[in-house]
Amino acid sequence: MLKIEQCRKLNISSLDTNDGCSHIAEAECDGQKFPVAYAFDLNDDSRVVNISFQSNNKIQKQTIAIEMVELPLGDKAYFGCDCGKRCSILYQKPDGGVFACRECHKLVYEVKTINKNLMGGVLYKMNRLECLLQKRKKINHIFYDGKPTKKVAQFIHLREKWCV
Ligand SMILES: [Zn+2]
Repeated sequence: MLKIEQCRKLNISSLDTNDGCSHIAEAECDGQKFPVAYAFDLNDDSRVVNISFQSNNKIQKQTIAIEMVELPLGDKAYFGCDCGKRCSILYQKPDGGVFACRECHKLVYEVKTINKNLMGGVLYKMNRLECLLQKRKKINHIFYDGKPTKKVAQFIHLREKWCV
């Protein structure tokens, strides 16, 4: 079973422009970064982003649909996976190949592969603790405008939920 944690993740939020020029985004896996060149092609009838990246020592190209969703605070862009699913993150398997959603790549979260009761639940707790530590590393600001940031709120929520 392939785990999400083993894959390279390309988040739509790392593609931050729509001016039609080429730019470099980064796919990420376990703290390592991998460059992904991209250029948007946004017409009235087709919205796509063309990406190119290294896969097995070759440059691979891929065209991904972009879906815009209207939200109260402005439009939000999503990737449209070939299966029709709308998602913010696409994944590339460790052995290379195209980016696709986690259903298409049949990915599972590591935590789903751990038996909660094994060793009295110690392994499960360790895994959750590791996950929290990773999340803590990604928190740059504790407060914004006098309130805990979204990441901090999520961190606190998960810590309470997992009791670690
Ligand atoms: Zn898919």
